[in-house]
Amino acid sequence: MAVIAIVLAIVIATPQYADPYVGCGHLCHYCYALDGAESDWSHEIFVHEDITGQLATELSGIAPQHIYFGYHSDAYQPCEADHRQTRQVLELLLAQGFSASILTKSDLVLRDLDLLRQMKEPRVSVSVAFTDEAVRRQFEGNTIATEARIEALRQLRQAGIKTSALLCPVIPFITDAEQLIDQLADCTDKIWIYGLSFRDRSGRAWQQTCAASFREGRYRACLDGRTIISLTSTSAG
Ligand code: SF4
Repeated sequence: MAVIAIVLAIVIATPQYADPYVGCGHLCHYCYALDGAESDWSHEIFVHEDITGQLATELSGIAPQHIYFGYHSDAYQPCEADHRQTRQVLELLLAQGFSASILTKSDLVLRDLDLLRQMKEPRVSVSVAFTDEAVRRQFEGNTIATEARIEALRQLRQAGIKTSALLCPVIPFITDAEQLIDQLADCTDKIWIYGLSFRDRSGRAWQQTCAASFREGRYRACLDGRTIISLTSTSAG
């Protein structure tokens, strides 16, 4: 269970990324953000005190533009349902003429469609990786089902939001990228595909998951800490 704490810290980073939370409760074993985290990223979620007050100050020197969510942590991670920090940020952005570009693993973003529809060319990208739900739970212990995310994309697109899917990470012998592409094809404007990359803390968590559960022989090369699959990107659709 995540511990919620209060933090006074910058909301908007340069370039313009917004982090309504510091930390992420989605528990992805391959989380790249673990690498730079200074706290127990998955179990201590820090909430900004007076987020709209901080944000108003930070926005005062920035021309209206897209603000990006989801680079360091998921703005729609489970605690957002109660804390509504992301919704407060979107309300302020809308009032000041900004727009949003969001990457998430949650369908909670649908809650804020009323705000997104009033923004100029908002964008939402939803990340998916696993077709097997049991495998998903092992790699992303606190995310929602893949099918629910695809349905969220479908609804966002139907609502006129520009969408994309992030198919990530592709893990040889474990994920099925082709099946996901087929499932996503009619639900989104674009599909981005990324292979697995891991370092240090995220690498260790990932290795443990693979070693414990999957194809141990094939992934034995991971155990010395080497990256066996380098980050690549391809767009489709
Ligand atoms: S949703 Fe993103 S930030 Fe959150 S744990 Fe997963 S990979 Fe890390």
